[in-house]
Amino acid sequence: MSDEVGSEEGEAFESLDFIREWVRNDNEAGTYGGRVQTRFPPEPNGFLHIGHAKSIFLNFRLAEEHGGTCFLRFDDTNPETEDISYVDAIKQDLAWLGVTPSGPDKFASDYFGQLYDWAEDLINKGLAYVDDQDAETISAQRGGFGQPGVESPNRDRPPEENLGLFRQMRDGAFDDGSMALRAKIDMQSDNMWLRDPVMYRIRRVPHHRTDSQWILYPTYDWAHGQSDAIEGVTHSVCTLEFADHRALYDWFLDQLDLPSDQPRQNEFARLNITHTVLSKRVLRTLVEEGHVDGWDDARMPTIRGLRRRGYPAAAIEAFVERIGVAKTNSVVEVELLESFVRTHHNKSALRRMAVVKPLKLTITNWPEGHVVMVDANNNPEDPDAGTRQVPFTGELWIEQDDFKLDPPPKYYRLTPGREVRLRSAFFVTATDAVVDDDGNVIEVLATYDPATEGGSSPDGRKVKSTMHWVSAPHAVDATVHSYDRLFTAEHPGSGDEDRQPLDDLNPASRETTQAKLEPALADVAPGQVVQFERLGYFAADVDDARVFHRTVGLRDEWANIQKRKKS
Ligand code: ATP
Ligand code: MG
Repeated sequence: MSDEVGSEEGEAFESLDFIREWVRNDNEAGTYGGRVQTRFPPEPNGFLHIGHAKSIFLNFRLAEEHGGTCFLRFDDTNPETEDISYVDAIKQDLAWLGVTPSGPDKFASDYFGQLYDWAEDLINKGLAYVDDQDAETISAQRGGFGQPGVESPNRDRPPEENLGLFRQMRDGAFDDGSMALRAKIDMQSDNMWLRDPVMYRIRRVPHHRTDSQWILYPTYDWAHGQSDAIEGVTHSVCTLEFADHRALYDWFLDQLDLPSDQPRQNEFARLNITHTVLSKRVLRTLVEEGHVDGWDDARMPTIRGLRRRGYPAAAIEAFVERIGVAKTNSVVEVELLESFVRTHHNKSALRRMAVVKPLKLTITNWPEGHVVMVDANNNPEDPDAGTRQVPFTGELWIEQDDFKLDPPPKYYRLTPGREVRLRSAFFVTATDAVVDDDGNVIEVLATYDPATEGGSSPDGRKVKSTMHWVSAPHAVDATVHSYDRLFTAEHPGSGDEDRQPLDDLNPASRETTQAKLEPALADVAPGQVVQFERLGYFAADVDDARVFHRTVGLRDEWANIQKRKKS
């Protein structure tokens, strides 16, 4: 469904997705006089996740591309699950993503009065009625696909009577859930949403903005299109699960005297990512049951979680842009997202040495108290990044994994009798190890070759591995969280019918260790991402720069997946 513009030989072409094409066609036809207005309409009942980011960038960029407007509208029609704290968090996350609404934030709750008046209009036109059956009965009478709907005994109540009852509903004469206002459309429609959908229910729940002013709350369908119309939205973009609601969206708007042009809805496929759950309900359960520390846990796919993890907004946007907008649902590999994050940091992140699982290494022929400052490159990808001085002494920390008493085949790192390079410093040869009562190596003893300063040997001697290290007397302590997938399954909760996403939760998604860092890492700012040599990219926590989160590894797993697909 893409379109090529100016695709002549040698000329750059621009390819439009079907949503952009839809807007362009409207503009060419003069449908809205060239006006483009979109909105991002979150319900304030949870934090934004990367799926929302897809919708955010689509709506905001779409408006920008046409010199139009895009507003943030809180779809706050269900006070039972919503809260003002989510409103604030959503605004902050939007700002962090780098989009700016075209004006003050909008709230569906600001339109409760107008929606109510329009409901009375529909009643007067004989297009809505009060049904005093309970919710289960109404739902059962809707029937199903290929199964006829049953008309309510209240369906033909005269308008005057409906109006009186509706006003009594508003004024508190009836119990919660005892009555509903329904649109009178078609109980035999193939589209279930047109089978006399509910517009209002009674709920005595205070609202975070209108407090106890209303006990009638509009349903999503009654609020959404009308809110679009009140604001002057032209193109109302939502996700595919609302495709069947479109007929109802249009039906309501067709019946009303609108203050502006009639908006139209179009639907795109929601973002799904392997090993990831993007349902607020499941994310809330993870938080409430304590599987993660909170909505902003670095394992969460929330904007806050990704931010804590060290995912830059620019990489999230580049990813969303790359996967594009489609009309059919699909699942994107999480490795693609990670590759955007890695590419971003590879260009800019400072290289540093950190030992996340420390093991002591003592150089037995090192002159006591001697310190050598070695020169280390800050970022080979960035010619302007320069070098830094790192202190080297006879007492070092190395990774536990970098030493083995009994090495397996093809193990080229340190083992008794083997010589390796300590990056930017010296060649060392392990001579012995100290082992505790349980057989664990607690200290490695080694000798160094003073002629190898800078990490190369004057006699051309080769070593098979280069390891990172930190001088023990200079080390900075930090807590490091290393992560594995939060969900082990590629498609959490899929498989047999009863399987739930939480059944695929990885019980070992986080490993926390006490790490030793080179002194330059004492100056890292909260939120800054650096590369720990050989280990990956790590983000200093946004609240505490002595806590690090492993952002992504160094290996390009996306490239491997591509190779596997081709072969
Ligand atoms: P839930 O996760 O419980 O299904 P929701 O994500 O639909 O809820 P909303 O606050 O209504 O919650 O979402 C706001 C907007 O973001 C909607 O327009 C919705 O279509 C869009 N959106 C939500 N999830 C995704 C996703 N995974 N991909 C793209 N857009 C999404
Ligand atoms: Mg929703």
